[in-house]
Amino acid sequence: NLTERLSDVIKTLRGEARLTESNIQDALREVRMALIEADVALPVIKIFIEQVKQRAIGHEVLDKLSPGQALIGVVHEELVAIMGGDKAELNLNVAPPAVILMAGLQGAGKTTSSGKLAKWLMDQKKKVLLVSCDVYRPAAIDQLALLAEQTGADFFPVQTGRQPAEICTAALDFARKHHHDVVIVDTAGRLGIDEAMMREISQLEQLLKPAETLFVVDAMQGQDAVNTAKAFAEVLPLTGVILTKLDGDARGGAALSVRHITGKPIKFAGVAEKLNGLEPFYPDRMASRILGMGDVLGLIEEAQRTSDQKEAERLMKKMKSGKSFDLNDFQQQFQQMKKMGGMSAMLEKLPHQLSQAAQNMNVDEKIINRTEGIINSMTPQERIKPEIIKASRKRRIAAGSGVSVQEVNRLLSQFEQARKMMKMMNKGGMAKMMRAVKG
Ligand code: GDP
Ligand code: MG
Repeated sequence: NLTERLSDVIKTLRGEARLTESNIQDALREVRMALIEADVALPVIKIFIEQVKQRAIGHEVLDKLSPGQALIGVVHEELVAIMGGDKAELNLNVAPPAVILMAGLQGAGKTTSSGKLAKWLMDQKKKVLLVSCDVYRPAAIDQLALLAEQTGADFFPVQTGRQPAEICTAALDFARKHHHDVVIVDTAGRLGIDEAMMREISQLEQLLKPAETLFVVDAMQGQDAVNTAKAFAEVLPLTGVILTKLDGDARGGAALSVRHITGKPIKFAGVAEKLNGLEPFYPDRMASRILGMGDVLGLIEEAQRTSDQKEAERLMKKMKSGKSFDLNDFQQQFQQMKKMGGMSAMLEKLPHQLSQAAQNMNVDEKIINRTEGIINSMTPQERIKPEIIKASRKRRIAAGSGVSVQEVNRLLSQFEQARKMMKMMNKGGMAKMMRAVKG
């Protein structure tokens, strides 16, 4: 996959004492192959490689003390640039209700994303109305009604036999009367680009004058996704893209191509089926993820969202202040992992090498519980100063939590590894940590 291929290239470059035009060319050839395999659109690959090459052969890289690092920096920056640079905000600054029109093919994730977006906006104290114009499939209307119920958003009831345009007009009236801030309009999709569908969605767009017309597209479709996006962008005045199923997209081609090919920014990414599985899209974080640096910022953000806000702040403060990480924090981390949907969800977000290390630590749900048991059997002093846990204390802790002394030892060494990681994150930031993990 793209991340692995690119991090291989990077590892090689990092080892080079001197970069020359020729080993840069070799590296770029590797990068190009990796992008082709990842199903990135050809024009995008061409521009990307060209940009990197120009900057790499210039003094920006070759003159640097560590040219390998500098080249990685350039690759990172160009990845960010090709995905649109800055994070693109949702623009709902219009006289309310602000309408969001959802467009896209069948199965792209329009209905699911409508529900997720409703939740996201409601978390920001917006009053949201969900409307379904998918009159061809009654089950689709029920699907949206259910999502409304789960999120607590209002749902506009649809009378059978009404046409999409009539529904929209009535829904807008309703939203004005009930002071909704945002109206999300879910529409019908087809399996492929089709005249009737395009006519219908264009008509709705003219009628609704949406603040946002978002094209919803399935990242797993790779280049097909991008071609569909282009076809829609030619007919509809899109304001942005929601890239869904990024969690299932091992290749990453769509994420890299869609902005350049359509000219429209990716505003959100779908990262899980569940209702909180929608995230604002940050090109820089995505670039880090693609390069195998992982999405540590995203992880911290998610921890803040999922766990007790105060607890997260306490941990962050402690990390920042450089105060040493103790077994209480270690236990907190395990508890947060549980809240965040377990190890597998968490591992996906970690940098590749780090996640490998975590897997080697062999942490699964059962072990998490056992770990908590062992830590519970320690005295407060032992938790703060694990160094004092020598043989007799180990025996006492093992007996108290019903495990063997070996297991207590294993826990302590896992804790040591985690403490090292935390220290590195504190002191040198990401770059240092990645270097250390790579060895
Ligand atoms: P629509 O036809 O465009 O309305 O598509 P749906 O919203 O009904 O979604 C189609 C399928 O994709 C459903 O099974 C969703 O649960 C699933 N889905 C949508 N977005 C995501 C996502 O970001 N991640 C994952 N894993 N599944 C998703
Ligand atoms: Mg649908």
